[in-house]
Amino acid sequence: MEFELTPDQELMSETVRRLVERSIKPLIDRHDPNRTLPKEIFLLIFEKLAELGLTAARLPEAAGGSGIKMLDYGIMFEQIPAAIALSLVAHEVSVARMFADCNHEQRRRFLPDLISGRTIACTGSTEPDTGSDPRGVTTRLSRKGDSLVLNGRKMWITNVSACDLMLVTCLDCRKGETGSRVVKIVVERAHSPFEAKEIDTIGLRQGMLGEAVFDDCRVSEENLIESERGGTEVLKSSWAINRPLFGLMAVGMAQRAYDIAVEYAGMRKQFGKPIAAHQLVQKNLSDIVTAITSSRLLCYYALSQVDQGKPADGAAAMAKRYAQNACQEAVWQSMNVLGAMGLSTEARVEALYRDIRMIPIPDGTNEILALIHGRELTGMAAFRGTEKSLI
Ligand SMILES: Cc1cc2nc3c(=O)[nH]c(=O)nc-3n(C[C@H](O)[C@H](O)[C@H](O)COP(=O)(O)OP(=O)(O)OC[C@H]3O[C@@H](n4cnc5c(N)ncnc54)[C@H](O)[C@@H]3O)c2cc1C
Repeated sequence: MEFELTPDQELMSETVRRLVERSIKPLIDRHDPNRTLPKEIFLLIFEKLAELGLTAARLPEAAGGSGIKMLDYGIMFEQIPAAIALSLVAHEVSVARMFADCNHEQRRRFLPDLISGRTIACTGSTEPDTGSDPRGVTTRLSRKGDSLVLNGRKMWITNVSACDLMLVTCLDCRKGETGSRVVKIVVERAHSPFEAKEIDTIGLRQGMLGEAVFDDCRVSEENLIESERGGTEVLKSSWAINRPLFGLMAVGMAQRAYDIAVEYAGMRKQFGKPIAAHQLVQKNLSDIVTAITSSRLLCYYALSQVDQGKPADGAAAMAKRYAQNACQEAVWQSMNVLGAMGLSTEARVEALYRDIRMIPIPDGTNEILALIHGRELTGMAAFRGTEKSLI
């Protein structure tokens, strides 16, 4: 067992950290912290991330991806500011899903621009009445005259306002309503325009989270995914990677909150000495670092299970749930170390506190993650009796 990063991993982490400091943060800081960044900023950043292989980390090199280990991906991902990381993971997992499920011709048409960061992708699964249980989708794909049309509404979709391609989960009603099954289709915004708008949220306000409405939206039949494997398997393996990545987003936020808190504690004096010299402030700092370290290790563990081809659903669920809870508490404690200053927008910890509140929901709420882990521990699914679950 080895707990240190290898020299290569140190280099990967440092390379992303420097890219963020030199090229990404200055772009972000120039914009309103409470408004979605313009699409051109996301594209500029995606192009830079693409140079490091981060827009297609799960794809093999032969397919234009970086072919890196998921643990290495996680180590790099942790360095990326959360609003960008959210966008990146939504884009990158959509690329991985398309690679896994699309036929040769579809891959040729869609993937090169997505991999190079010239276009942005998203996955549209959630709907107003369909959240944790993905089986309930009602968006319909049907035939109208010679063409296929989509009708329905997708909610809480990362990247939707700026996306060029959306991988949409829908009901295939081409042969009528009865027996309709869940399928996926790639909607190309340029050929199949649809209405999309941002949803205002508590945190990650520079990021993109919104809804899309399909109203007789014409889609080419060539974009329908007729996967041999079926979307479900791909979606499941993508969750085992996404969940620890979300955990590492929380780790990154808690680390930034701690960095602010420890610096402040060294400077701020009360009772004649720096507050860092008071015993209970030291306990606070110790609690924060314990939360960050344990969360990071659990996320790394889950990703390394994926790399070794071992069952990772339970580890991934455990990692995200634990990391987000522990790191949310760590950010809260960091705010406390700053006293009233922690509440000011100037200190930037309050923004991290709002941002981290976004993490428990996507790719499995805390309750659903506990049930996924419980299913692995007991061999029994709590979702619907003994029926095999989709999540
Ligand atoms: C930042 C962010 C990014 C997102 N990105 C995307 C995206 O790119 N694409 C996409 O399709 N969706 C996305 N989503 C949507 C997300 O996947 C859903 O919000 C999530 O699956 C939960 O669904 P819901 O919000 O409808 O909650 P519900 O499913 O309605 O759950 C409400 C509450 O009930 C609990 N609950 C539900 N079922 C059970 C159960 N069986 N046992 C115990 N408790 C239960 C939940 O834990 C939760 O507390 C995103 C959401 C957020 C916040």
